[in-house]
Amino acid sequence: MSIMLHGIGVARGIAIGKAYLMEHGQPDIAEYTVPDYLIDAEIERYNSALETARGELIEVRTQITQPRPSAAQQEGADTSPALVSARVPGDVTEFIDAHLLMLEDSAISRAPIKTIRRQKCNAEWALKQQRDALVQIFEEVDDPYLKTRKDDIDHVVNRIMKLLLQQETDTQELLEPDEEESILRIIVADNLTAADIILFHHQNVAGIITEHGAPNSHSAILARSLHLPTVMGAGNTHRYLKDGETLIINGSDGMILIDSDQKTVDHYRALQEKLKLHQDALAKLRSQAAVTRDNTTISLQANVELADDMEAMRQVGCRDIGLYRTEFLFLNRENIPTEEEQYKNYKTVVERMNGATLTIRTLDIGTDKLIPAIAEMESADNPVLGVRAVRLTLKNLDLLIPQIRAILRASAHGKIRLMIPMVTSMQEVVQIKNHIAQEKMNLRSRQIDFDNALEIGAVIETPAAALSADGLAQRLDFLSIGTNDLIQYTLAIDRTDDQVNYLFDPLHPAVLRLIYKVIQAGKESGIPISMCGEMAGDDRYTRLLLGMGLREFSMNPAVLPAVKQAILNTRLDIVEPMVQQLLQSPFHEEIHRLFDKISRSNPDHA
Ligand code: PEP
Ligand code: MG
Repeated sequence: MSIMLHGIGVARGIAIGKAYLMEHGQPDIAEYTVPDYLIDAEIERYNSALETARGELIEVRTQITQPRPSAAQQEGADTSPALVSARVPGDVTEFIDAHLLMLEDSAISRAPIKTIRRQKCNAEWALKQQRDALVQIFEEVDDPYLKTRKDDIDHVVNRIMKLLLQQETDTQELLEPDEEESILRIIVADNLTAADIILFHHQNVAGIITEHGAPNSHSAILARSLHLPTVMGAGNTHRYLKDGETLIINGSDGMILIDSDQKTVDHYRALQEKLKLHQDALAKLRSQAAVTRDNTTISLQANVELADDMEAMRQVGCRDIGLYRTEFLFLNRENIPTEEEQYKNYKTVVERMNGATLTIRTLDIGTDKLIPAIAEMESADNPVLGVRAVRLTLKNLDLLIPQIRAILRASAHGKIRLMIPMVTSMQEVVQIKNHIAQEKMNLRSRQIDFDNALEIGAVIETPAAALSADGLAQRLDFLSIGTNDLIQYTLAIDRTDDQVNYLFDPLHPAVLRLIYKVIQAGKESGIPISMCGEMAGDDRYTRLLLGMGLREFSMNPAVLPAVKQAILNTRLDIVEPMVQQLLQSPFHEEIHRLFDKISRSNPDHA
């Protein structure tokens, strides 16, 4: 029987595929068929992982139970044979012994092998099935002590699983199904980080459903930029689903259809086709300039997270990058990219731009974009208000200085601007500028080229920065309004929290007034003001922003044609007075009424 559920549509598009349920804390395990002639090799692979796991545990046991030399002995000061006791609590060794016994148990040592033979499946999949069956048994018993033992199963299974996943296998290529056999999957997860979404990219993933998450989280922004239809905040979806069941999702309205009949699938396939035709029609605007009906040219720039976005921007006829989110260079890795690695990346990007402008934002890590290498530096209690972005890099010059140097060096190869995220005070700007000046001196003394006129700007994404935009505009070369965070900090709502997402309102009078103030500050000081938050790429707000005086928009390339279309259909002389009236109103209903009027106004009639 078909079931319909709802979440929040965060990345447009229809996806049709098979449900792929991700379990919390468990590695993501693929299932594939092993041909007869490789079954013995697969079993050997499993046995070898078991053997290594056993060896590792014995090694740990030996290390903690054998007496260790004292510090003095290690330093060579004391040559007497006395050794300090290891002082390892008995329950630690018992714990390891229990795990060693589990490895010997036929449930782990033999059952998965039988499954490999019977189902002709890969070792990881056989082990996962065995783990699920064992956990199920433990969950069903009433004894609270036995219930907790299921964690031991996970420990042991994860140890073997990790070893299996690290091995090179003869059957590895089977993980990559060929075109015809490829099954499009729809990932169903509790929540996903931006790093997870990058991993799904290129993995036959048609769409994503998360039970938590919000449209302005970095995961949602990334899903949009990768054109992955995504529904978030669809709580408890996993209860209504089985792995492998057919799913249809609509990333515009948040609809999820489970187990639909063929007629419904055909209907949504036709809709997919229609959406594609619409996109193709918009793509025809590629070579057209973004000019209002009354001849004001608007600059449309791209937000870029991954190198793939550069191709997408070219396809929509966009030349400049208004926001290069460098943190994506730092995700999904244990270490921090070196100055050299960053330099090569920025140089490659700017050289591909044929003289257009590349605006590089310095590292904005923290909150929902975390990297293991600096995890301990982040504020644990309230990361959104803690050591994030410019605060984090100013505290950790090992992160900031190599990035500044890499940006400066890359600026010798094309037009680069440097942008500082999450500024709240002039002090931060002054400090960053001092570091840049210092690094310029260093490079000069080493006779390394850079652009001495490198422009420095800031993302205006806190109320503090917006309210002091007049001062910032006098010290900086450009400003860019980051509405995602500006709305979060103005309305005091965590942008990743689906519980308060309903309060995220770009039309809130406080938000509109702050945006207007920044645009005015730019006009008065004569520096360019752009907007790089998601509001800039939402064609519903294009007319309003044009009427407020915004002339530079930076967005995910996928939405650029729709914004261009809105610009082509706008007459500033009609819209501007209406927007002035809207900005005067402190009332939500009146703002919405005027906003609708602006949206519906006809550019053919004054
Ligand atoms: C913003 O806050 O609007 C912005 C562009 O930055 P990010 O979404 O990367 O925080
Ligand atoms: Mg931001």
